[in-house]
Formats: sequence, C-alpha cells, structure tokens
Amino acid sequence: MSNANILISGASIAGPALAHWLVRYGFNVTVVEKAPALRLGGQAVDFKGETHRTVLTRMGILDEVRKLQTGGTDQLIVDANGRTLAVIPGEFTGGDLEIKRGDLSRLLYEKTAPSCEYVFGDSITSLTETAGGVHVTFERAAPRTFDLVVGADGIHSNVRRLAFGPESDYVRHLGHYYALVDSEEDFGPVSMMYNEPGRLAAVGGPKAPAFFVFASDRLDYDRYDAGQQKDILARAFAGMGWQVPAVMKAVHRADDVYLDSISQVRIDRYSKGRVVLLGDSAYGNTLGGFGTGLAMVGAYVLAGELAAAGGDHHVAFAEYERLLRGYAKIAKNGNAGPFLAPATPARIRMRNWIFKYRFLLALMMKMGDKFATDIDLKTY
Ligand SMILES: Cc1cc2nc3c(=O)[nH]c(=O)nc-3n(C[C@H](O)[C@H](O)[C@H](O)COP(=O)(O)OP(=O)(O)OC[C@H]3O[C@@H](n4cnc5c(N)ncnc54)[C@H](O)[C@@H]3O)c2cc1C
Repeated sequence: MSNANILISGASIAGPALAHWLVRYGFNVTVVEKAPALRLGGQAVDFKGETHRTVLTRMGILDEVRKLQTGGTDQLIVDANGRTLAVIPGEFTGGDLEIKRGDLSRLLYEKTAPSCEYVFGDSITSLTETAGGVHVTFERAAPRTFDLVVGADGIHSNVRRLAFGPESDYVRHLGHYYALVDSEEDFGPVSMMYNEPGRLAAVGGPKAPAFFVFASDRLDYDRYDAGQQKDILARAFAGMGWQVPAVMKAVHRADDVYLDSISQVRIDRYSKGRVVLLGDSAYGNTLGGFGTGLAMVGAYVLAGELAAAGGDHHVAFAEYERLLRGYAKIAKNGNAGPFLAPATPARIRMRNWIFKYRFLLALMMKMGDKFATDIDLKTY
C-alpha cells in the first residue's frame, strides 16, 4: 500500500468517520483538532434512507446509533402567548434515525481513538507538497511529513484555505446566522419555536437545548470566543417577545455557545495534489439537513477508493470526486435561513401554512430521501 500515512484535520463527524475506514484498510492515521477536546454541542442530526443505513451497517455502528437516537419528536410553532400555530412532525426534521451530533461524534471518536493518533488543541499552519509527501507545520507540534492530508475541518476549513486559497473564494454567506446554546436550564420536554420577522428562537425537547436563527450581514467575531458570541446573540434577540428575554438570561449563563453563519461551499475540485477535502469543507450547506449524511457517505467512498487503488491518490481522488460530485448536488442549492426565520409576518404565516398540509410535507420528505439515496454504493 502506498501513501500509508494520512493526516486528517478536524475531529467532528467527517474526520473520525474517515479515520474509522482508513484504519480498517491498514492506513496509519493522525487526526488534528483545533479545539482542546471533542466538541459535543449541536443539534440533532439525521440519517435518511437505504444509503445512510448501509454505510452505518457496514461501519458496524447501526445498532449503537439506534440506541442513542432521540426519537424524532414533533416541534410546535407558537405565537407570542405560547399558543400553537402549527406542528412540525418529528419525521420531517428527524429523518429515519435522529441522533445528537455530539453523541455521534463521541461514538465515532471512541471507536477510532484506540487505533489512531488524535492531537487536540492544535492546527496546521502550512502545507508544502514535495515529490513524495506533504510537509506540515503546526501551531504547537513539531513539523511532520505525511503522504496525504485530508481537510475534514468544516465549512471554514483551514486546509482548504492553506491548499486552495482564501475562504472568500469558496464560501457564500447566505444572509443568516444560527446559534446553539447548551444551557443548564431545563426548557421542558416539548420542543417549541417562535418567530418574529428575521428571527427564530427555539427551546425545549431533545433536539437542542436552545437554538436561534437570525438574519444578518456577515459578522466579524472569533468563533472560539463564547463571550463574543453571547453578546452577538443578546443584540440580535433584544426586544423579542414570548419566552425570549428569560432564555437570553440562560444564554448569558451558559458554558457552551456555537454561533456560525448559514453558508454554502462551492468549489470546482475536491482535491489538489496530495490534499483532499471531505464533508462540509467540500460540500457544506449549513442546516440543509444533509451535512452529516454527506460526510459519512463521503468518508466511506474516499477511504474505499484509496484502499481499492492501493493508496494511489491520483486514482482514488478522481473517483471520489466523480462519485461525490453527483451525490452532493443537494448541497449546491437551498438556503435554510429564510425558511427558519422568514423576513416578514406574511412569510412566517406562509411557512407555517405548509405544515398544515401533510401531502406537502410528504412530498418534501420524498425529495429529501431521493437525494440521500442518489448514489450507487460500491462494496470495497
Ligand atoms: C460544535 C458543532 C456544532 C454543530 N452544530 C450543528 C447543528 O446544530 N446543526 C447542523 O446542521 N450542523 C451542525 N454542525 C455541523 C455538522 O457537524 C456538519 O454539518 C456535518 O456533520 C459535517 O461534519 P464535518 O465533520 O464535515 O464538519 P464539522 O462538523 O463542521 O466539523 C469540523 C471540525 O473541524 C474542526 N476544525 C475547525 N478548524 C480547524 C483547524 N484549523 N484545525 C483542526 N480542526 C479544525 C472543528 O472544530 C470541528 O471539530 C456543528 C458542528 C460543530 C463542530
């Protein structure tokens, strides 16, 4: 096997999923993650249809994912007095199998940690391709040379920036931000969401402790600074009705805040020389409902193609690109922001209206399933 030593940047979903397969095929894997420990926050993510189920089965984790599933509960859309305006059925947002992002990340990490090297609290600072490998420097660790480098470091990928060019060339801000806040507060077992034009606040239920979406031009802040993110949220949700003032007090006390833009990645090639992109870094579309499935299927295909090609990255990356380019087309379009936080009262009413008609929901879910299964999975 050539190219046996592989560095993966990012230990969320795509990174550990790829590590799982690469180790199984006999590669030596190092994963570097910028955060000091595994990041466990986030909403529930979901799997839809036969393709996702097959990948989970082949990974040997379907039963464990099933044990951790949230159960896909209904969400209530309420008015300022807490009266129910519409019900979003659990299966609409929860797919066939819904699991908290943090639970999935932990499961993948625990499966792979004994067999590969995880380095937390560090980040790649330069990538220099040589004839036989990639010379990599880090913020903290000593420089090392790897055969291949994988950017599984999300929409704001560091590897993509270093190998392909600045984020502004590849990431489109779609006009909204979203935030997840892990709070000690108990908002109750029922998931409720409330809109005012350009703003959404949701609390309760098993999906996420507190979830927010708001319309905004691009913001300048440190994504690893919780204090700055709380201030942005406080400003964005000032003066909002319903339970929001009390929820904002809980946000202020919370330890874990995750605020990011709703963005979309557009890139012509997933690989450049010995560097390849996987998951959101290559085909991200925030809150589109497909990111986790795409990352898991992408990891399966990328590792499988590398194994099938005996480690030859030219052959493997070309075939990975061919297969994923088609499968990831769902991520090329769509913007969840205006659907979650419509801009006017009339648009909020129109969005709520959709949930009254089961046939419309069934149609939307059918389209989602079609995209999620639109790939012929090889057996590697
Ligand atoms: C904490 C968190 C919460 C999330 N919450 C949601 C959510 O609520 N809803 C949703 O739809 N999606 C959410 N996502 C994104 C979701 O996980 C992805 O859309 C999807 O699962 C594909 O995952 P990914 O591994 O490609 O990218 P991501 O999940 O974005 O993971 C990227 C990883 O790379 C790490 N990283 C970033 N920069 C560097 C660097 N310089 N060096 C090394 N590592 C780096 C990040 O810390 C992260 O662990 C969240 C991601 C994270 C990290």
